[in-house]
Amino acid sequence: MGSKALHEFLSANLDELKEKGLYRKLPVVTGPTGPRCIINGKEVINLSSNNYLGLANDPRLVEAAIKATEKYGAGAGAVRTIVGTLDIHEELEEKLAKFKHSEAVIVFQSGFNCNMGTVSALMTKEDAILSDELNHASIIDGCRLSGAKIIRYKHSDMDDLRKTIKEAYESGQYKKLMIITDGVFSMDGDIAKLPEIVEIAEEYGAFTYVDDAHASGVLGKNGSGSVSHFNLYGKVDCQIGTLSKAIGVVGGYVAGTKELIDWLKLRGRPFLFSTAMTPGAAGACIKAIEILSESSELVDRLWDNARYFKSKLSSIGYDIGHSETPITPVIIGDEAKAMKFSDELFNSGVFAQGIAFPTVPRGTARVRNIVTAAHTKDMLDEAVEIYKKVGTKMGII
Ligand code: PMP
Repeated sequence: MGSKALHEFLSANLDELKEKGLYRKLPVVTGPTGPRCIINGKEVINLSSNNYLGLANDPRLVEAAIKATEKYGAGAGAVRTIVGTLDIHEELEEKLAKFKHSEAVIVFQSGFNCNMGTVSALMTKEDAILSDELNHASIIDGCRLSGAKIIRYKHSDMDDLRKTIKEAYESGQYKKLMIITDGVFSMDGDIAKLPEIVEIAEEYGAFTYVDDAHASGVLGKNGSGSVSHFNLYGKVDCQIGTLSKAIGVVGGYVAGTKELIDWLKLRGRPFLFSTAMTPGAAGACIKAIEILSESSELVDRLWDNARYFKSKLSSIGYDIGHSETPITPVIIGDEAKAMKFSDELFNSGVFAQGIAFPTVPRGTARVRNIVTAAHTKDMLDEAVEIYKKVGTKMGII
C-alpha cells in the first residue's frame, strides 16, 4: 500500500518533468574537470565549472591532500564536536580568518550546509529576514528552517529593500532584522550592492549576511571576497564562503566575530550532527589559501581571461547580459532554443550549460559560461569560433 503511493507520486512527477523537457541525464566527466575535459565520452572545452582558478586540478593541492590523507587517514571519523576536530581543521580556520581579516572562522562540510546551519542558528520565529529574490537555494532553505518571517525584496533594488525594511521595522513585530544576499549572483554574474545594503542595515539596526560563494577567490584583494572588493572591513556581520568553487576543493565557512563563531560551533546543526570535512580536503584547502595569500597571479589571470572572452563574444553579436564577473551568460530568451543551442555547442566541442525557467525568469533562458584562469587564450579563441559557427547556423547572431 505504502509502496504503491510512493510509486504513484514518483511516476507522476517524473512524467511531468519529462513532458516539460526538464528530465535531464547527468553529464559524466571522465578524468579531471579541467578547462578541456571529456564529458559523456566527448572532448570539449569546459565552460561550466566553478573551478575559477584551476585549483581543483593544481598539483600543489593534490600533493597537500595526499600528505594530509597519509597523516590523518581518509576520514575524520566523527562530527566536529565529538572527536572529529583535527588540528588540521583548526589550522584551516585560522588561515581563513587571517585571509578574510576576521576575528574567527568556522568551517562546514559544504557551502550549502553553511547557509542552512548558520541562518537557522541565528534567526527565530520572532525575527524577520530581508532576502534578495534571487538568493541561492541554500539561503532560501536556511531561512525557511529558521522559522523567521521571510520578506523578499526585488533583485538588487535598494528602493524596494528600503521600503520593505522600513515597514518591518515600523511594525515593531520583530526582535531582530537581517539582510541576506549573495555577494555575486550566479546566473547573471552581477555583484550585490553591498555598500548600500550596509548603510540601510545600519539605519534600521539590522545585521548583514553575505554569501560569497561566487566571490571567494574572484573578488577583492587576492580573491578574498566582496567585503575586500568594497573595502567594507568590519561592516558585514556574517561572511559566507565556499571552498568548493574557486578554492577548488569542498566545504564552506563563516567568517565573523569570535562571539558569532563560538555560537555557531554550539548551535550550527550540520557542524554538530554531520561528520567533519575529510583531512585530505582540509589539507588541500590550506594549500589553496596559502597560494592565494602569496600572490594575485591566478586571480589576475582569471579576470584577464574573463575580459578577453566577454569582449570577443559581444563583438560577434551575442547578448551577454550585465555580468560584472567571470560568469558570462549568453542570453537566448526562448527556453527550447537555449537548450538546443547548448546541445549544438556541445556537439561542436563546447560545454556551456543551458539554463531555463524556473532557475531564471521566463523569457531569459540562456547558456552560462564560466571562464577560468586555467583556460588558455587559444582555448578561448577556439570556443569563440564554435560560438560563431553554431550561432550563425541557428540564426542567433
Ligand atoms: N551559495 C551559493 C550562492 C552557491 O552558488 C552555492 C553553490 N551552488 C552554494 C551556496 C553551495 O555551495 P557548496 O557547493 O559548497 O555546497
